[in-house]
Amino acid sequence: MDEITLQMIHLLKTRTDIAKEIGKIKKNIGKGVTDELREDNLRGKVIALCKDLELDETIATKFLNFLLNESVKVQSSDKQTHLSIFLKAKTLEEQGKKIIHMEVGEPDFLPPPIVKSALEEVFDEGFLKYGPSKGMTVFREALSKHISNKFNVKTTSDNIIVSPGARFSIFTAITTLLNPGDEMIVIEPAWPAYKDCALNSGIKVRTIGTTLEDKWEPSVEQIKNSINSNTKMIVLNYPNNPTGKILDEKVQDDIVELARKNNLYVLSDEIYSEYSKNSWKSVLNYNYEKSIVTQSFSKSHAMTGFRIGYAIADSKIIEKMAKLEALCLTNVSEPIQYIAMKALEADISNNSNTMKNRLDVLIQKAKEIGLDFVTPDGAMYIFARVNQNDFDGVRFANSALERGLAVAPGEGFGNYKNFIRISACQDEKILIEGMNMLSNIMSENK
Ligand code: PMP
Repeated sequence: MDEITLQMIHLLKTRTDIAKEIGKIKKNIGKGVTDELREDNLRGKVIALCKDLELDETIATKFLNFLLNESVKVQSSDKQTHLSIFLKAKTLEEQGKKIIHMEVGEPDFLPPPIVKSALEEVFDEGFLKYGPSKGMTVFREALSKHISNKFNVKTTSDNIIVSPGARFSIFTAITTLLNPGDEMIVIEPAWPAYKDCALNSGIKVRTIGTTLEDKWEPSVEQIKNSINSNTKMIVLNYPNNPTGKILDEKVQDDIVELARKNNLYVLSDEIYSEYSKNSWKSVLNYNYEKSIVTQSFSKSHAMTGFRIGYAIADSKIIEKMAKLEALCLTNVSEPIQYIAMKALEADISNNSNTMKNRLDVLIQKAKEIGLDFVTPDGAMYIFARVNQNDFDGVRFANSALERGLAVAPGEGFGNYKNFIRISACQDEKILIEGMNMLSNIMSENK
């Protein structure tokens, strides 16, 4: 037994070394890390071999998923995302350089005024101790009322878990509901953390690529074909970061139906719902017991720094997520929960109007400078293709940063090397200045 195991370790070393070499070649020729077709081919061969050997195919494909993930890890160790550009921009600012931030999704306006008074009163209110891992009962009750009214659904406090930002709910949902070797479907372009959470937990991501030409609409057929016995979850994020796309309702209905038929979890990240320009349907409205919806105060209430969000799901799912949250955090800071509870009372319609106007300015300028994009239905970004020979978003974002403009490279959101994401989170004057700079840098790059 020892001998066989050691042989496997030798083979793993050889496989990893080859994966590294292939990674370098892919990078040089501008190819993305994951090649779904290639992986499918290999999967087919593994399944055929299992039949010959009379070996359980589920175990073998889980093992294959482990190997594929190891290749993805070694090939994407230096992947650059909006976060890496943001961190570099922050360092440059500390050195005294002026940067226009169009790379991150962080509204520049203030949280609602009630947040300020809540900050002052929380000490006297006494929300200062350890508390339930799912979040304070009064806050979860307020959230469930808010959600029930907003979406016309029946939700109780047992259906809510409070987390430090939606990010942590996404992490706990993926990590607790799925096991190593399981598969999760992600429609790209996508916020990078879904994939990274999966990779971190040994879960294989099946990517469904969408294109500008198809107006970022995914093919339900393609999703259907990627489902197998290891598939456990599909992730949705509409309005989408980075494209601003809202799914056609029929397509969304079909995807949820597909999930129902195949007993898959639907993780629907709806943190941009307050910023939808067109009609939009929450996954909560499907009344599907295996759905998990994430929400956050970061964007809707401009409270990014408070780190507060929540998830809505069946109470059994919430209990599982709460176990991991208790292990990692004990509970979310009580003073912050109190402040967010107060923020729920604020009228935030002004925020969505402001963002809509800014997005309109950005759209106008992007058209003027000849960027190729689909007009977003919501969120706060434009995901644009730059039609220049050999355009490389990472190289471009780094050179723009040296000139004082931060934009996000498309590569962070999937295989979109010739795209950049521009965010509308500054006031209109700054946005126009930034877009003029972008136009100049693009002309020089030609
Ligand atoms: N989901 C998406 C799609 C996001 O863009 C972000 C943040 N940019 C998050 C989740 C995380 O938000 P939070 O600040 O609530 O953790």
